[in-house]
Amino acid sequence: MNILKNDQLPDARGYFGAYGGSFVPPQLQGILDEITAAYLKLKAEPAFIAELEGLYRDYVGRPSPVFLAARLSAEIGGADIYFKREDLNHTGAHKINHCLGEALLAKRMGKKKVIAETGAGQHGVALATAAALLGLECDIYMGEVDILKEHPNVSRMKILGARVIPVAAGLKTLKDAVDAAFEAYLKDPVTQFYAIGSVVGPHPFPMMVRDFQAVVGREARRQMLERTGRLPDALVACVGGGSNAIGLFTAFLEDQEVLMYGVEPSGLSFKDGEHAATLTKGKPGILHGFKSYLLQDEQGQPQKVYSVASGLDYPGVGPEHGYLKDIGRVRYECASDAEAIEAFFTLSRKEGLIPAIESAHAAAFALKLAASLGKGKNILVNLSGRGDKDIDFVIEKYGAAYGVGPAGK
Ligand SMILES: *Cc1c(COP(=O)(O)O)cnc(C)c1O
Repeated sequence: MNILKNDQLPDARGYFGAYGGSFVPPQLQGILDEITAAYLKLKAEPAFIAELEGLYRDYVGRPSPVFLAARLSAEIGGADIYFKREDLNHTGAHKINHCLGEALLAKRMGKKKVIAETGAGQHGVALATAAALLGLECDIYMGEVDILKEHPNVSRMKILGARVIPVAAGLKTLKDAVDAAFEAYLKDPVTQFYAIGSVVGPHPFPMMVRDFQAVVGREARRQMLERTGRLPDALVACVGGGSNAIGLFTAFLEDQEVLMYGVEPSGLSFKDGEHAATLTKGKPGILHGFKSYLLQDEQGQPQKVYSVASGLDYPGVGPEHGYLKDIGRVRYECASDAEAIEAFFTLSRKEGLIPAIESAHAAAFALKLAASLGKGKNILVNLSGRGDKDIDFVIEKYGAAYGVGPAGK
């Protein structure tokens, strides 16, 4: 038996090795069991799969292409770097893949409203989009700090008809938004459906979100075979909660010759509170209803986390990543704020691709890996999203260093 086979993990209780599971109040467990049963039934239903595939094709624009970054690769003089262009998806990132799946499931279960947290606003926009498309109400919980930083996405959600609910607790960022959304969900888990934004949370979410994102790796595997006649030598993806990474990795888990790298944000430094490198620095613990690696203080409370990328600053990580780390199948590396910003400008200026700052973390590591792997090798990087949402922030904070002062200066 190959324990890595997609349909063999997690086990019936939602465990990937020692991680995952469901740690929720009893009144919620019944609802989660219903969601699991409904999902497993629909997953096998040709009409559901056909509807989702039709939306991926006609609405999202799938398959997303793979693109050889020829100029950049030549300049490095090492491995060829290919990008899986999730930035070209409708709404600008990979998140629409699981939002459509979750919203379709919610609708089939007769739910009236989808709710969720959002960090950079990408999940909120993707979910608000799916809700508008399918005629569902939508409430998005967002930290006040992120609301200021990611203003265009806030406007998008409102235009799409969603309610954006500001969260003023804690650091006013992603973890606090998850806390608030959980609280709201507990009050009414019957008419609402919590559409989690990554491969995190209690079972069945890490499994379900992975399954919806696995389209990325399935396409990429076929595309790379067609394009180069073989599998890529290495895969690289950034890891916040871990959905774009698991989406790419899943189709390649059994190809032992394919190296896989997840890239976490080391932020400003490895001092507590200055990074969000959960798998690199964390220890097993429980947060938001699941067990996984967790950045925690001595009392076991979630640590303060930080990254220049709002979509990566979460103190937990998907349980399947904890498992893949422990068995050594995936290596987890880091990129700092400064390295990600450097890669953001490199991709923009060498390839005309303005990446999301999240994706720029993967690119930053891939640039180093290309040099060390050397010529004749191929690296496939998940370009998880585009950087439109980040341009004002980058110009304001880093523009001067790159010869592009803030507007009017
Ligand atoms: C949200 C987001 C991420 C981080 O989430 P994962 O679940 O780790 O993929 C990465 N890239 C982009 C563009 C995002 O919007």
